[in-house]
Amino acid sequence: MRIKFKYLRPHSLDECLAVLAAHGDESAILAGGTDLMISLRSGSRIPRYVLDVSRLAEIRSVEQHAELIKIGAILTYSELIAHPLIVKTFPALSAAMSCVGSLQIRNVGTLGGNIANSSPAADSIPPMMIHDAQVMIQRANSVRIEKLERLIVGAYSNTLEPDELITWIILKPAESVCKQTYRRIARRRSLSIARVNAAICGKLDASGLIADVKISVGSVAPAPLRIKKVEDSLIGLKPEPKFIQETGELIARHIVDLVGTRHSTEYKRPAIAGLVVKCLEDVFID
Ligand SMILES: Cc1cc2nc3c(=O)[nH]c(=O)nc-3n(C[C@H](O)[C@H](O)[C@H](O)COP(=O)(O)OP(=O)(O)OC[C@H]3O[C@@H](n4cnc5c(N)ncnc54)[C@H](O)[C@@H]3O)c2cc1C
Repeated sequence: MRIKFKYLRPHSLDECLAVLAAHGDESAILAGGTDLMISLRSGSRIPRYVLDVSRLAEIRSVEQHAELIKIGAILTYSELIAHPLIVKTFPALSAAMSCVGSLQIRNVGTLGGNIANSSPAADSIPPMMIHDAQVMIQRANSVRIEKLERLIVGAYSNTLEPDELITWIILKPAESVCKQTYRRIARRRSLSIARVNAAICGKLDASGLIADVKISVGSVAPAPLRIKKVEDSLIGLKPEPKFIQETGELIARHIVDLVGTRHSTEYKRPAIAGLVVKCLEDVFID
């Protein structure tokens, strides 16, 4: 299907926000275009303007602050995977970004686009959630900072307004003693969407007991989840193999209770349990 739209490429963030203020309702923001082009081609989106934000210099960097790292929303996966600070500080996120699509997709796809698309199976969301990710969202005269968990409210659904632009993703680095991991189950190694994915970060205390753990699982509910209730219950316990097996099953049960039984539950329940067990082993045993 061929549709007509006007292509706009603002030269500054202010200009971009001004266009969104005037025409947000009839515009589609284009970053890497890997998701947007599909909806334009299928005709599921028919915007009057396509607003290319991919070259906005103001949001094309990684910034280290005292306790936080800010990632420009329009940096591509390939740029981030090659960034020493990102690789060193967020190995689980780096691993997840390396799983996205193919090299061609990673060369243009962005974290901002992955968040705004809000797929339940998005690779980058669980490893951002374990770093208490916040998203900076700007419009012409205001800025809001939203927790990633609050921003995504369902499958392909979020609280972004038509005149808003995701500008920065703000992550809290884990302590250097914490280990992080990301794993996914998919049909193939590349160009396949995660059927279940999980990111875990944690550390043991001097006695070998769990001192901190953060767990996020995706592709199991309308939106990726942080499993905080289970995280809290693990503190102070010894991560022995039997306990890790039970924790995998506990998390799978917790998720099924949360989302209800579906036709995929028979497959997903053991898949979640198995994946979580492997992640817990990466973090607490290997
Ligand atoms: C072949 C193929 C394979 C893929 N494989 C994977 C995969 O393995 N894992 C995975 O997670 N994803 C995958 N994807 C999906 C896609 O690549 C990602 O979601 C990507 O991160 C989207 O980023 P983008 O910059 O291309 O977004 P775009 O396509 O430019 O935009 C996506 C949506 O977000 C909006 N948007 C973009 N940037 C902003 C912003 N800064 N502020 C507000 N709204 C914005 C757009 O208007 C649009 O609605 C795949 C896609 C394809 C085509």
